[in-house]
This record gives sequence, C-alpha cells and structure tokens, in this order.
Amino acid sequence: MSYHAYIGLGANLGQPTEQLIWAVQQLQQLPQSQLLAISRLYSSKPTPGSPENQPDYTNAAVLLDTTLTPHQLLVQLQALEHQAGRVRIERWGARVLDLDILLYAQDEIHTSNLIIPHAELCNRSFVVLPLLDIFSTLTLPNGVKVASLAAARLFDDIEITADNTWWHSKD
Ligand code: ATP
Ligand code: CA
Ligand code: CA
Repeated sequence: MSYHAYIGLGANLGQPTEQLIWAVQQLQQLPQSQLLAISRLYSSKPTPGSPENQPDYTNAAVLLDTTLTPHQLLVQLQALEHQAGRVRIERWGARVLDLDILLYAQDEIHTSNLIIPHAELCNRSFVVLPLLDIFSTLTLPNGVKVASLAAARLFDDIEITADNTWWHSKD
C-alpha cells in the first residue's frame, strides 16, 4: 500500500533555487517513492519571531507517492538536508535546505520527533500556497479545506517567483 505525502521545501542560504532543484532531483530518486507533482516557486520573508537579519526564503512543495512510513520518510529527508550541508545552529535560523513533511495520507501523528500535519501548516502562506498549487481541493485530516486557509489571510509576505517548471535544470 502506498500513500500520498506532501513535502515542504525551503532554503535561504547559498543558492536557494539551485538547492531546491537538487532536492527535487534527490526526491525523484527516493527509495520506495514516486514524485507525482511539484508546486510553483515562491519567495517569502523569514517568519516573524525567527532570528533577525536572515535572507528571504525560497519555498516550494512536492507530492510523493510512497511506501515509506512517516518516520522512514523523515530519516530520508534529514539525510538529504545533511547531504546538502545543513548545520543546525539556532532554531529557525538560516539554512541551505529544509525538508518538512507537511501531510502524510490523512494521518495525524504526534511523536517526540514527528508531528503531522506539520504544526505550523495552517499559519504559513509559504506552505499553504504551494500545497494549493498541487491540489486545489486538498483537505486536512480534521476536515479543514486548505483553500479556506488561503482565503482567510493576507499574503503580503510572499510572492510567486517561477511557474511549476522551475525545477527543470537549466543546463
Ligand atoms: P519548523 O518545524 O517550525 O518548520 P524547522 O523546520 O526549522 O522549524 P528543524 O530544525 O528543521 O525545524 O527541525 C526540528 C525537528 O522537527 C526535527 O528534528 C524533526 O524531528 C521535527 N519534526 C516534527 N515534525 C516534523 C515534520 N512534520 N517534518 C519534519 N520535521 C519534523
Ligand atoms: Ca520548516
Ligand atoms: Ca524542518
């Protein structure tokens, strides 16, 4: 049995778009998984409350079909972050690559190292908008329609920087 998992991608150090393209290429090769869809590319301001003086973030989301369990998927994503050279210095600090599991099927998971749906999903335009690119009628396990989250807020901290072909490597 395979399941749909939505992954959020973010970067604000180095060459963010290049790192996200690299991440998509790696996700295309993830074991037991198939990459089904990719959002447009966004640029967003660092979340209020995060360490100051960070560059803007580049964000996207992808949809995987996978037979990995949520925890196996987390291990794979953390290995990719590590391979990309991510170093954890401070919470919500700048990073070369962040890969979060936003949703996994209709699962609700609360363990010490994994919360699904992602705890901040509903509060982040840079998560909500990419998700809607992929699946405009997406619904959370609690029945909330993701589109209703977009309608309820102002998205003045985010802009679209590329259509959903951004990950086609230029060379
Ligand atoms: P945020 O979680 O607010 O987006 P962050 O992505 O900067 O912050 P990280 O430092 O990347 O946070 O991760 C901290 C921990 O979050 C990870 O070690 C991981 O175990 C845990 N975690 C909990 N739920 C998830 C999830 N859905 N996807 C990825 N990591 C998660
Ligand atoms: Ca994150
Ligand atoms: Ca993370």
